[in-house]
Amino acid sequence: MINVMIYNEFVHELKDEKVKAVYPDGIHSVIKSFLEKDSSIGKIRCAVLEDHRQTLSKEALDDTDVLVWWGHMRHQEVDDEAVARVCRRVLDGMGLVVLHSGHASKPFKALMGTDTHLLRWREAGEKVRLWNIAKNHPITRGLSETFTIPHDETYGEPFGIPNPDELIFLSWFQGGEVFRSGCTWRRGEGKVFYFQSGHETFPIYYQNEVQLVITNAVKWACPVERHCVADRGKGNTPALEQIRN
Ligand code: ZN
Repeated sequence: MINVMIYNEFVHELKDEKVKAVYPDGIHSVIKSFLEKDSSIGKIRCAVLEDHRQTLSKEALDDTDVLVWWGHMRHQEVDDEAVARVCRRVLDGMGLVVLHSGHASKPFKALMGTDTHLLRWREAGEKVRLWNIAKNHPITRGLSETFTIPHDETYGEPFGIPNPDELIFLSWFQGGEVFRSGCTWRRGEGKVFYFQSGHETFPIYYQNEVQLVITNAVKWACPVERHCVADRGKGNTPALEQIRN
């Protein structure tokens, strides 16, 4: 069973009527409710900005296989020590699924090592067409070649990410922009997936295809063997002796 942690900033939903109307209990609640329908997913916990110093503790992260991250207004208020714990766990094998404006979050920037906040953007509620360009990838299982989201925030290239290991989705926006909207990377033992869809004023996380992408991504990002690196760094003599005998 996959243990999941969902981090959502959870500020805008409390303050803005338009956002509250779409996500009255927060974006994290909607993500949790569709993830828990999948039988391979076990424990799902949530962390929000206000409590993240406790909810993203070392103990909690050690017990997390995949962390899902959504934030947009208050990236700078995320504690640097919590960010360091997240990055350490990714390097040791925890999966990380970064959604939408999480492109500018501290953990994603740290793991990518580039100016990931750099992109074109426009709030115009434009239609977006996503192209599945990795039809045999676990993240696109069950999806057709293309699907549309009626309204989303427009993101456009150039996007300041390092070249992805795998490009899963390419998006076309009504206003003419194109965007690498689904990308994967390996960082240490961990798998990272970025998925662009999900502006807070539109009901994007209620859409079937989007739920399927995120559910598939959580399953893909889960480490194959939990705790496989637990004994690393304790010196090489015993292991070498065992091989020789
Ligand atoms: Zn947005």
